[in-house]
This record gives sequence, structure tokens and C-alpha cells, in this order.
Amino acid sequence: MKTKAASKTADGLAPFAMRANASRGRRHSEKEHPIKSCFQRDRDRILYSTAFRRLQYKTQVFVNHEGDHFRTRLTHTLETCQISRTLARALALNEDLAEAIALGHDLGHGPFGHAGEWALKEVMRDHGSFEHNVQCLRIVELLEESYPEFRGLNLSFETLEGLKKHPERFYQDRTSRFRTLEADLVDLADEIAYCSHDLDDGLRAGLILQEQLSGVQLWNEARARMDAGSRDLAPGTYRSGVLRAMLNLMVMDLIENSRARIEQAGLDSLRDLQKTSRKLLVFSAGMARSQLELKKFLMQNLYQHYRVVRMTDKGQRFLKALFNAYLQKPKLLPPETARRGQEEGLHRAICDYIAGMTDRFAVQEYKRLFEPHEIFGSV
Ligand code: MG
Repeated sequence: MKTKAASKTADGLAPFAMRANASRGRRHSEKEHPIKSCFQRDRDRILYSTAFRRLQYKTQVFVNHEGDHFRTRLTHTLETCQISRTLARALALNEDLAEAIALGHDLGHGPFGHAGEWALKEVMRDHGSFEHNVQCLRIVELLEESYPEFRGLNLSFETLEGLKKHPERFYQDRTSRFRTLEADLVDLADEIAYCSHDLDDGLRAGLILQEQLSGVQLWNEARARMDAGSRDLAPGTYRSGVLRAMLNLMVMDLIENSRARIEQAGLDSLRDLQKTSRKLLVFSAGMARSQLELKKFLMQNLYQHYRVVRMTDKGQRFLKALFNAYLQKPKLLPPETARRGQEEGLHRAICDYIAGMTDRFAVQEYKRLFEPHEIFGSV
């Protein structure tokens, strides 16, 4: 069946894809690059940012020093980006925009994964709270300081909208946001990426055993895709094969089901897309059920595993202790952060400072401030 998702226009994109030449532009206007589109430039700016490089020492599930082969926030981001590009290309959407949003989607995470988020939420309860999506926007609009002409990265309007990433809020109030399917697909690529790689890491760490997965539909379906002969493979190779099949099942289901939904919706332009609040990129009902089952399994058996809780709880305590130490004595802060505290309030400045830390830096800083024998090195 020929679908509108597959019926591309002359530039190779679907009629409802976001085009670079239709962008609403940047807050501070800039001359166009002679070769690169605005979204390619956004992608580059995110990639070269300090916040992006810090992702390599930030926790996904396993704290960085637990092992060299576990995902970090950086490799999670790259996997999300890769899946986003596959989805964008298959659905004839703008791959550059999807790539930019995917590379930026987790910039706002603090150290120690979700534990870091809870800790910052708690200390900021009466001071505007903390939320990693909001923090991501603070980083790209305010905190990155690499360009003399403006603060932040001066990203295109559509990339910023994509980074807001609040689909559930959006569907309730669709006037609040400019909609692109490129942003919608990154949310789903994010889910596909973490469901499969968190399971991989959990199995690799021995926190989950393959036998526990015998009741999980998606795992069983993926196993059935492996050849009968491949059961003789080395355990690591077999596990990788099943996980690859699982990821592929999710991606293909999403592409095929979304193509049908888009076709039904009869969209002819990006303007048509703004008029509908229907979810257009969706898994089939069966896959949605299977994915929910897998997420519940991960919640019970991995994210709440006592060894993970011990790691992340320690991180939470570090961060709260650091926060309170800075709050009681702002002179402990680097001068730039202290100055920001006078402009934006001390709580927000400390929160920005801690959210920007990698796991590694937070641990070192804790030692510098609290351990009597630690040399007080430069920060
Ligand atoms: Mg993510």
C-alpha cells in the first residue's frame, strides 16, 4: 500500500515534515550557513556543547564507576539518536531535526540519574522545583557560554520546541506548543532505546536472570526470531541477538503502525498537523501492551533492585549534602556560580551548578568538602 508517509515530495520529505527553509528562525537572527541547514547547525552546536560532553560521566542506570560496558547518559543519547534517524528516514521526516532533538534530549539530567533528579526536586521544593526537561532548556538558552554574541546556543525555534518534550501536557493543550512529528518520534526512540539497553545492562550485571524473563512477551517473541541453531551460541552473543531482535521488533512495529495512522489522518501539510491532537506515531495495541509489560518488569526487577537503590541512594545523599553546604556558605562556590546566585537567587544558582555536575565530579567535590584528608584541589 502506498502511504503519504512514503509519498515524498521533490526534496525527499513527506508533505507534513518540518523543512529547514520553513523554520521560524532563531531568537537572535544569524546569517544562514552556506552549506548547512539550520537544523544541522543546531545539531553541531549541541554536539560541541560542554553539557553534551558531560553526559559521558553521568549515570543512566548504573553509576559510572560500576563498569566500563554499561550505558552512560552519553551512549544512551547516541542510541536514541540512531533510532530517531532510522524512524525519521523511514517516515520521510526531517532527519537533521530529529537528530538535533535526540542529541539534546537528556542534556538537563543531573548526576546519578533519576536519584539526582529526586534530590534536586526536594531541595528546590519551595524555590521553583527542578525538572530535567526544563533544565535542558536553561542549558541551551542560558547556561552554555560559548558564543560571544548571545547566551546559550541560540537554537532554532523548532529544535527548542522539540526539547520541551512534554507530550502528555501537549495533548491536553495543543495550543501551547508547535508540533512536529520529528519531536514526537524522539520521545518514542528514547523509550525504545532505554527499554532494550537497560534490560541488556541488567542482564550483563547479573541483576536480572534470563529465566526471570520467561513470562515477558516481548522477550519471548524476540527469542522466537532467533534461529533454533543459535541457542548454541555463547551466552553473551545469544543475549545480544535476542536484544537486537527485540529492538527491531519495536522499531518495525512503530514504523508500520505509524504509516497506517498517518495515512488515515490524511495530512497534506505541516499546517494540517497543527490542527490535529491525534497521536500519529504509535505502536500497535499489541506492542504497546508488550512494552508496558517490559517497563513494569524493569521497574520491579532492575530500577528497584537493592543494588541499584544502594548506588543511587548514595548519590542522592551526596547531592543534598553538597547543596546544603553551598547554601550555608556560598563562599564555597566558584565565583561565577556565586555571582549568578546574586542575579537569580542562591537556590537556583546552586541547583544549576549541581545539575551540571557529572557523577565523577560530584563524588570528588563531596570528598573535597567533607573528607578531612582530601587535598582541596581546584574545581
Ligand atoms: Mg533519554
